[in-house]
Amino acid sequence: RQAQYRRLRNKPSVTKDGVDISLQMNAGLLVDLPHLAESGAAGVGLFRTELQFMVASSFPRMREQQAQYEQVLMAAGGKPVTFRSLDVGGDKVLPYLRSIQEENPAMGWRALRLGLDRPGLLRTQIRALLKASADYGLKLMFPMVADVSEFLSARELVDKELKHLRLHGHSVPDRIQLGVMIEVPSLLFQLDELLAEVDFVSVGSNDLFQFFCAVDRGNTRVANRFDTLSVGFLRALKSIIDKADSAHVPVTLCGELAGRPLEAMALIGLGFRYLSMSPASLGPVKAMLRTLDAGRLSARLLPRLEPGHRETDIRDFLRRYASEM
Ligand code: PEP
Ligand code: MG
Repeated sequence: RQAQYRRLRNKPSVTKDGVDISLQMNAGLLVDLPHLAESGAAGVGLFRTELQFMVASSFPRMREQQAQYEQVLMAAGGKPVTFRSLDVGGDKVLPYLRSIQEENPAMGWRALRLGLDRPGLLRTQIRALLKASADYGLKLMFPMVADVSEFLSARELVDKELKHLRLHGHSVPDRIQLGVMIEVPSLLFQLDELLAEVDFVSVGSNDLFQFFCAVDRGNTRVANRFDTLSVGFLRALKSIIDKADSAHVPVTLCGELAGRPLEAMALIGLGFRYLSMSPASLGPVKAMLRTLDAGRLSARLLPRLEPGHRETDIRDFLRRYASEM
């Protein structure tokens, strides 16, 4: 099997009916980067910058952050890298960052919330990213955005840093793309406003599902209680892809869903064309999609999401569909 997947590495990521699907990989440390060439991924769709902070014993300085990002971009060898700003807080604790006990850390002072309340921290990271990517272009997204205004505030910090760097004679990237992770359901009802502001979006389905169904993603007792392939959640994902397509905003999905073949198949059926996953999932997902007729699947899947359709077990439908492929 492994050998079979390795053979697929350089084969195009195209469905049987000719639809290009861009498969990217998730990473968090420099040691992940060799997987880029090994897996044949088109780029790094999610670089979790918090990993560097979690393995450090004190807050990494600007220069250390910059050095890390430079090494990542260099190792990517020209393939695109989407950085995500620090997503700490909640259960990702930094021992050296004093935090308060929270009863609901997943919904607490974390990610961009922390960054906007401690703009010094976020600005340092933004500066490091801008300096590191001067020769490459920067693609940066912000996690746990619940309101469009949070993205606007974050973008202001980027603008301030750009101004500062230019003023001091530093070169800055020619191309800067700023995006938002869609992982809080409130954004589903602000898609028009959001899509008018961002350069791209990326669906964080792990958190989106957790908050959508109110199930703690790390609590085994409830984590599998609801199905990610249920009608309600698939409709939510469909509304994102539909709105993003009509606003011409590229949308990636970078949660664990993308790395499971049956789920990835559903995502392609919904209309997703950019998926980012752990490197080990690339082979199995590519093997699946190369035998898939995306148009035919969509024609059979989408009616099942309409109200009143008598067959509501989508997972069962997809399993049957896959077995006939
Ligand atoms: C997600 O929430 O789906 C995601 C990709 O981010 P993380 O798993 O790091 O929270
Ligand atoms: Mg998340």
